[in-house]
Amino acid sequence: GSVIGILGSGQLGRMLAVSAAELGFRVHVFGDTSGPAFDVAASTTVGPYEDLGAITAFAETVDVVTYEFENVPLGAAAAAAAVRPVRPGARALEVAQDRLVEKRFLSDIGLPVAPFANVDNLNDLEDALATLGTPAILKTCRFGYDGKGQVRITSAEESDWALDAIGRAPAVLEGVVPFDCEISVLCVRGIDGRTAVYDVPLNSHKHGILDTSTVPAPVPAEVCEKARAMAARVAEALDYVGLLAVEMFYLGKDKPEPLIINEIAPRVHNSGHWTLDACGVSQFENHIRAVAGWPLGSVARHSDAVMTNLIGADVEQWAELAAEPQACLHIYGKNEARPGRKMGHVTRLSALSGK
Ligand code: ATP
Ligand code: MG
Ligand code: MG
Repeated sequence: GSVIGILGSGQLGRMLAVSAAELGFRVHVFGDTSGPAFDVAASTTVGPYEDLGAITAFAETVDVVTYEFENVPLGAAAAAAAVRPVRPGARALEVAQDRLVEKRFLSDIGLPVAPFANVDNLNDLEDALATLGTPAILKTCRFGYDGKGQVRITSAEESDWALDAIGRAPAVLEGVVPFDCEISVLCVRGIDGRTAVYDVPLNSHKHGILDTSTVPAPVPAEVCEKARAMAARVAEALDYVGLLAVEMFYLGKDKPEPLIINEIAPRVHNSGHWTLDACGVSQFENHIRAVAGWPLGSVARHSDAVMTNLIGADVEQWAELAAEPQACLHIYGKNEARPGRKMGHVTRLSALSGK
């Protein structure tokens, strides 16, 4: 097909649209008013995702539908799927929208997750704390992002406060994982079931928001191999088409279980933005290739890279960054640099190291 439909109009959709345009596709976007609707698509429909008539009409104008955020209502995905292929499919959304469903799915396919328990009320939370101990992290099952919708509990007396603080049951209580560092795996799976996995970045966070992604991650090669295989396993189990991100904790080489999966994102991911500048084919292009039914492109990396997010007022440094020789600057064109808002990113390249 020649028209790609994207549900969601944030920066990820924008970068997908740019990559799609480079391959000769036209892009139609469906977004609601919460997104910073962008201008690189051929057309944009603005409306609530709950308007199934509008979703159907939108889907009819495109050849294939994809999405840039995991909270697309399942009803909208189903309405689109009734008239056009939706890639990745509804199963990936269903799993990734709910932390409890996600953790059960991962453990059912034999992959390690943090110890967890479901929490619907104060009683559940007290029981879960008695079982898992403290410290522990209480997270809402749905709609959490950038560390929002979760709190750390250090003693059982905090349970009342903690439930109030996250504001919303159902929730999940997780044991705190004593990790060395955080990594993510960017795996793309084509329509023919073939997978390709990018080199693994190390991720560091500031105030709950991704700050930097560094490739290669300073993690032993066999651990990276294991992480890549785990992510491909998730993609296969979901019969996934497109780019899948899997966030993991690395606990250290000599631990019986060196890797634990934190969460998955059924979409292109902030920790993969360096692929735009350090790889022949970026995560965005490979996602578009996959959903369009094209062969996947090479995930090989030609440079080492450090990606740094420009959050809020950070974007005011654009002129300095633009003058830096090894810095690849990306600005998302959002109207207002609110605190905590992802406004752009910069990737600094250096010569490929031996690792
Ligand atoms: P994102 O913006 O990545 O979607 P999120 O709001 O969905 O974030 P998580 O990724 O679940 O939240 O958690 C945010 C961060 O909190 C993690 O990157 C990690 O640093 C820390 N964290 C979360 N769960 C645990 C855990 N079980 N043990 C230790 N640290 C954790
Ligand atoms: Mg998340
Ligand atoms: Mg996360």
